[in-house]
Amino acid sequence: MFLGPPGAGKGTQAVELTRKLGVPQLSTGDLLRAAVAEGSELGRAADGHMRAGRLVPDELVLEILRDRLRRPDAARGYVLDGFPRTLAQAVALDAIARPDVVVFFELDPRELLLRLTGRRICPSCGSIYNVVSNPPRTPEHCDRDGSPLLQRPDDRPEAVEVRLRVYAELTVPLLEHYRSLGLLRTLDASGTPAAVAERLRRLLDEPASGAASPRAAESL
Ligand code: AMP
Repeated sequence: MFLGPPGAGKGTQAVELTRKLGVPQLSTGDLLRAAVAEGSELGRAADGHMRAGRLVPDELVLEILRDRLRRPDAARGYVLDGFPRTLAQAVALDAIARPDVVVFFELDPRELLLRLTGRRICPSCGSIYNVVSNPPRTPEHCDRDGSPLLQRPDDRPEAVEVRLRVYAELTVPLLEHYRSLGLLRTLDASGTPAAVAERLRRLLDEPASGAASPRAAESL
């Protein structure tokens, strides 16, 4: 599980790690954005919260996550990205399947702001860029498939401010929850995606402490 503030690079690292491990990336943000794009009932209920940078109510997020976990490709494991974000979600997840390892992405708040406002995403393949720190080869176009890149509506400064506040209030308490279970590992999320990926690889290679079993690390 990847835990940390918005803009810390969880999605970027999840894409790389899941390619390496051959397991899916389960991002509740991506699942919710897909529901919004589809115009489903759940998507319509989530849309306003997301645009404003607020959390989507727990019961909707749990519904979308449970559906995703039922798909066969999740049977061998997965990387959770952006879930849980509240203690209620963490408790619900403990009852479904407690994570093997929780990686906390630690980053200076000033760098978070730069990463969020400079972020661009490819609507076709999900690749993530940053106009300053990780630009595509052709400006505003995806390196993988050439699609024009987009800025997420919730990466606008007004929504970013709300998201960072919500993170501090509702998600930070999860660090203590997972620390007390012996599952938490802290990752220095500063620097380039390649540098962070290397630190992540080393972190997952470390033997587990306490009750955690490093299943993800064994298959790297
Ligand atoms: P993300 O792509 O993870 O930054 O998520 C984008 C937005 O989706 C968040 O700002 C929330 O509005 C919503 N969202 C994603 N995951 C969750 C979650 N676990 N709980 C509540 N809302 C979520």
